[in-house]
This record gives sequence, C-alpha cells and structure tokens, in this order.
Amino acid sequence: MPDPKFAKPWHGVPREQIHWNPTVLEEACIGCGTCVTGCSRLVYRFDFERKKPVVADPLNCMVGCTTCANTCPAHAITFPPIETVLALESKSEVRHAVEDDLLARENALAAAEPPWADMITRVARAIGPAGRTPLEGLRRPTGAAVGNCAYSGIPRDLREWVAHASPLDLRPPFDI
Ligand code: SF4
Ligand code: SF4
Repeated sequence: MPDPKFAKPWHGVPREQIHWNPTVLEEACIGCGTCVTGCSRLVYRFDFERKKPVVADPLNCMVGCTTCANTCPAHAITFPPIETVLALESKSEVRHAVEDDLLARENALAAAEPPWADMITRVARAIGPAGRTPLEGLRRPTGAAVGNCAYSGIPRDLREWVAHASPLDLRPPFDI
C-alpha cells in the first residue's frame, strides 16, 4: 500500500498521474537486494524464495530519482525517460507550485552564511591591504593539529593559525 508520506502530490500533480517508478528486468537481476535495502521509500519488497526484488509500491518512488538503477550492479533496473519529468516541470502550474513552496518554506530553506565566514572576514580585515594574502600574516604554531573541525569544516590548523593571532582578537567565535 502506498505510504501517503511518499505518494503525495508532486508539485501539485497527483502522484498517480505521474508515470515514474522502477522496472526490474528479472533475467538480468542477480538478486543482490541492493535496490530493496537502498530505497528509503519502501518501493521494493524482496521475494526471499525467488531471490528477486518486487516493485510493491511504485507510487512511493520519488519522482526523478534513479538511485536504485544507478546502484544496481547488474544494470537490471530501468525507468521511463527523464523527459517524462521534464515535461511536467515545463508546465506553468508546476513552476508556480515550486515557487510557492520555496516562498512558504523560506525560513527553513534559506542558505545560511557559513559559520566561518565572519572569522575569515575578520582575518582579512586585520591583515590589512598590505598586498599580503590573509594567511601570510599568521604563523603556524608548531605541532598544530590537522584535520577538519567537525562543526565548521574549517581545517583545524587554519583555526589554530587564527587563534595564534589572538593579539589581533582573531579568536574563532566558537569552540572546536
Ligand atoms: S540491485 Fe539490481 S541485481 Fe540487485 S536485486 Fe536489485 S535489481 Fe537485482
Ligand atoms: S528511484 Fe529512488 S525512490 Fe524510486 S525506488 Fe529507486 S531508490 Fe527508491
């Protein structure tokens, strides 16, 4: 049975009106189960006796997704041509639905400034317009840790360079 969480209208178009789901070519399938376990929308079930996947809830399939086909080692999964989806996208009512959705969820979807942007700006300002790149004015402390900060993604050694320049008040605004 389709899950209403997945089989809901796609940008205003009822899901049952959209022909988009996988087809398994059984003669090519080697029964590895990757498609079954890899799909997060429970489109597939697995026939454990025949060792074959079954497309049990095609309407759960995400319109435009082809992950299971891309990861099938036997190339045993096909989809309708992507033009099926592109033709839908070209309809003005679909475009408007996308725009309405973007605006309705603006708070959640707005791209936030990366947390390290402020720090980089402060470094650049402090180093000044003396013709040097920002990092040229910072000494790398001996034994600086390597790898990236799990929170900011900034290389730890860069963060340590910045912290080392503390007389210029360049401490990162958050802890590693
Ligand atoms: S991933 Fe491909 S080979 Fe593996 S079970 Fe699915 S269809 Fe068959
Ligand atoms: S295309 Fe995506 S959503 Fe559809 S069955 Fe394959 S993995 Fe699941």
